[in-house]
This record gives sequence, C-alpha cells and structure tokens, in this order.
Amino acid sequence: MKIICIGRNYAEHAREMKSEVPTEPVYFMKPDTALLKDGEAFYYPEFTKDLHHEIEIVLKISKVGKHIQEAFAHKYYDEIGLGIDFTARDIQQKCKEKGLPWEKAKAFDNSAPLGTFIKKETLGDLNNLDFELKINGETRQAGNTNDLLFSFDKVIAYVSQFVTLKTGDLIYTGTPEGVGPVKVGDKLQGFLKGEKRLEFEIK
Ligand code: MG
Repeated sequence: MKIICIGRNYAEHAREMKSEVPTEPVYFMKPDTALLKDGEAFYYPEFTKDLHHEIEIVLKISKVGKHIQEAFAHKYYDEIGLGIDFTARDIQQKCKEKGLPWEKAKAFDNSAPLGTFIKKETLGDLNNLDFELKINGETRQAGNTNDLLFSFDKVIAYVSQFVTLKTGDLIYTGTPEGVGPVKVGDKLQGFLKGEKRLEFEIK
C-alpha cells in the first residue's frame, strides 16, 4: 500500500506558501509507516519545532489501474475520507532552499493520520464537498472541493501515467489555505460535509 499526496492543489494554499500555482499536479509519496489510524494519539516528533496541520480529502483506490483516462477515473475509487498531511515546515523549508526532496519533512512515521471512510455515492456532488479542521473546537481550515486546481479524476489520470495504482492505495488530494502549527495537547477533528470523520490528539 502506498500513500500518494498532491501538493498545492488549492490556489490560496499555494499563495500562502509563497509557491507558484502549478499548471500540472505536483505529487509526492509517504510510506505505509506514515499511516496513523483509528484515532490513535500522535506523538509530537523531536526533530521539528514547527509541525503543521494540512487537512485533506483522501481517496481510497478500489482497483488496479495504469494510464487511467480521466473519463474513467471515477471507477477507480469508491470511498472518501479525511486525513492530515503532517508537515515539518521548518525542515521542508530547508529542503526547499537546498533543492532537496521533502521526505524528511513529510514522510516520517505517523505523518498521515487517517479517519473513517464513506461511500462516495452517499456524498452527492464530489466537486462541491465542504470539509473542515477544528483544533480544540475552533475552525482552523475550511475548504470546498470546487476550489481544487485538479479534480480527483484529473489527479488519478495524471498520477497513473507514472505509477500503477493498486487496491488500497490512498490519495491525499491537497490542503486548502489556513495551514499552521499544532502543539502538544491539541485535539484535532476533521469534518466532511458536517460529519466528523477524523479525531485524534497530539501528545
Ligand atoms: Mg498536503
């Protein structure tokens, strides 16, 4: 199982990062050891002093595919959930300055908390999904999929040109603006169309 993450898929987030708004999808991967499931506590890693939350809608791949056409991409995922793409922003910044890969900042153990999934059919229009991250009850990020630069189907078509998608793979589809630091003791809750789908604590 692999975790594919899309970077800069919401223009306002690209701007807040002072990054270019991309003209084609940007992706990177996390290993399976990045997964943190079932609301288990996340332990603040020692190697960073600036760990940021990025709430993202997550697609679960439901069949094997390579060179998937955009028109058929919807047949390759049947469940949708929420996750956090934790990012050690201080380390990422150093990697960016040196032109180095981001894995140290993005792909560490437990860097991909994952909530519960729901059948996509029950969600209605996938291009109009509200999602939200609350920390200690306060809204920190709120997005809607109609602001995606690259739709779920476009992302699947793009990534599958390079990488075979397999059943159980996860695609974290990018974060809206409002990313920021977390601290020990924070309680994170993710909502998809108003329903709580993710909950865990920073220890
Ligand atoms: Mg992200």
